[in-house]
Amino acid sequence: MVKQLPVALSIATSDSGCGAGIQADLLTFAACNAYGITALAALTAQNPDGVTEIEAMSPGFLRAQLAQLAAYYPIKAAKTGMLFSSELIETAAAFIAKQQIAVVVDPVMVATSGARLLKEGAIHSLTTKLLPLATLITPNLDEAAVLLGRRPNSPVEMRASAHELTARFGTATLLKGGHLPGDELLDILALTSGKLIEIASPRIPDVDTHGSGCTLSAAITAELAKGRALTDAVQTAHAYLRRGLERPLHVAGRAFIRH
Ligand code: PLP
Repeated sequence: MVKQLPVALSIATSDSGCGAGIQADLLTFAACNAYGITALAALTAQNPDGVTEIEAMSPGFLRAQLAQLAAYYPIKAAKTGMLFSSELIETAAAFIAKQQIAVVVDPVMVATSGARLLKEGAIHSLTTKLLPLATLITPNLDEAAVLLGRRPNSPVEMRASAHELTARFGTATLLKGGHLPGDELLDILALTSGKLIEIASPRIPDVDTHGSGCTLSAAITAELAKGRALTDAVQTAHAYLRRGLERPLHVAGRAFIRH
């Protein structure tokens, strides 16, 4: 029989510049040998310098996309990215609750450019409705600060925060330390068993990291769709992102992640 590609779903938002968001997810899924399908929560008018406008889908339209996808595709794993509002988060959560699949939640809040990608009032829906359904959450330090009420500012604080996030939401946590200063980058994976796994790597200079969070969570999702165990999926995805940053694409005077 012909081998079938595993199907990975991204519930997220369009970045018109294609460096982040659903476009980065699709490029990553394809590069990681998964078939990517998408349910759009919103559209952004964006380039790597910033976002000027956000156009949200109606919750009904997000629901219709998800229903149409689930009716046809054998979805093996899903990720969520920028979901923007309480209503869209709750729509995504209601769909995910009915699926028996691994789900990676990237709790996207603010872009590197400073643009708000999650409405202020939507944090409650994120923490009560969506995070508890996740297999893995992938906050950066600023997102962890919003979720915990304090920002982890050192490797020691990162270890404690990763544990605490895992305990609080009952899901594994990949706490991304890229925003700490220094030449060494540290990401910490806290499993629900209580085990901590540290992934350290040298910082790669002179590359635009726009879209790196989307790329990492999409690569983890692709590996989970292929049936890999969580720790293995995270380590493989981390190596994929590093390769993309080490030999970037040069476009419009900047260096971007290669997929
Ligand atoms: N735009 C969209 C649609 C996104 O989903 C994200 C991140 O998830 C971003 C922009 C921000 O990307 P970055 O912070 O990597 O620039």
